[in-house]
Amino acid sequence: MSVAIVKTKNPRDVRKAVELLGGMERFVAKGEKVIVKPNICAAMGSETGAVTDPLLVAEVAKMVAECGAEPIVVESPIYPIGSQRAFRKAGYADFEGRYGFELVDANAAEAIEVEIPRGLAIDHTIIPRVVLEADKLINVPVIKTHLQTMVSLGMKNLKGLVVGKQKHLIHLCGLDQGIVDLNTLIKSDLVIMDGIIGMEGSGGPTNGRAVEMDVVLAGDDVVEADCVGVRIMSGDPERVKHIQLACEQGLGATGELKFLGDSLESVATKRDLPKFPDLSRTLISGVALHALDAFREVSMRLFGGERVEKRVKLGDPVIDCEICDKCKLCLEACPVDAIEMEDFPAVRLDDCIRCFCCAEVCPKGAISKKL
Ligand code: SF4
Ligand code: SF4
Repeated sequence: MSVAIVKTKNPRDVRKAVELLGGMERFVAKGEKVIVKPNICAAMGSETGAVTDPLLVAEVAKMVAECGAEPIVVESPIYPIGSQRAFRKAGYADFEGRYGFELVDANAAEAIEVEIPRGLAIDHTIIPRVVLEADKLINVPVIKTHLQTMVSLGMKNLKGLVVGKQKHLIHLCGLDQGIVDLNTLIKSDLVIMDGIIGMEGSGGPTNGRAVEMDVVLAGDDVVEADCVGVRIMSGDPERVKHIQLACEQGLGATGELKFLGDSLESVATKRDLPKFPDLSRTLISGVALHALDAFREVSMRLFGGERVEKRVKLGDPVIDCEICDKCKLCLEACPVDAIEMEDFPAVRLDDCIRCFCCAEVCPKGAISKKL
């Protein structure tokens, strides 16, 4: 397995990365239908670091077409953001007219319920038929942070193939394992990461800070590519739960990872990654861990076990009413209806499952995680 790294500011240099891996013909054959899955999670432009640059996606589709295969770009944004609005704002409105390649709104396409035979958190989901019947899938995420899963890279990007509100099931059943489950159902034959403008900070995947990472990465194994994506942000892949779970469950390829092109060191920069208190890690000193456990025990006795456990591990969603414009998107996004509209939206913390779908969807960045 290999990962090619190209240091660049030009989205069209994606071609160099794929050529380093052996060329597109290594991955697709004449006559095949090939899904190209960008990240168009929100109604935001690629300059924000939230979505994949349409120029890069078009170049990938061109390479697929040059092999005599048929590229089909497919996406379903974060629920309840409207697909057409997201496509328009992200620069994909005239994608078909400009480049001649099909762009499918996964929320409007024919979709079918499928079992996930190896699923441990979710055993079924709903996916567009065109994805299930395609021959290959090219996964084209952005390199960015995520307030709940630390990073959103290739594995996480497949969640955008789950139709509309069906995404809620993954949050209700366990996001990290759900991401792994989806990746057991749908294989990424090639992963291409757009890191020309990525995102850092605990506001990711939509409200973090855009950063020029100046890199495009291509890999033939999604787990390994994700590990390299994390290392480009100077993070530790072992601290990313869905990557850890994928490795434990034998999802990634085995064998030595071969780097091609520019060196990892030449593109890796210390980035601001979301912080998660991990009570089981020895990184916390023995004394601090002891104090934290004692605090948790007392708090649990005083305020109720489950609530405190969630709070200590995951934090609480906090809404800044100074920023909120009362659009109510967060109310629709909450999978357990834990947000009520009073003068401003208010979260019932006892019902909240700390999925942070509300923060992901908030167009104003008014919801943050308070640890
Ligand atoms: S918190 Fe954000 S999503 Fe919710 S109503 Fe306010 S602006 Fe809209
Ligand atoms: S209020 Fe809680 S359960 Fe609802 S979307 Fe926000 S974090 Fe998730």
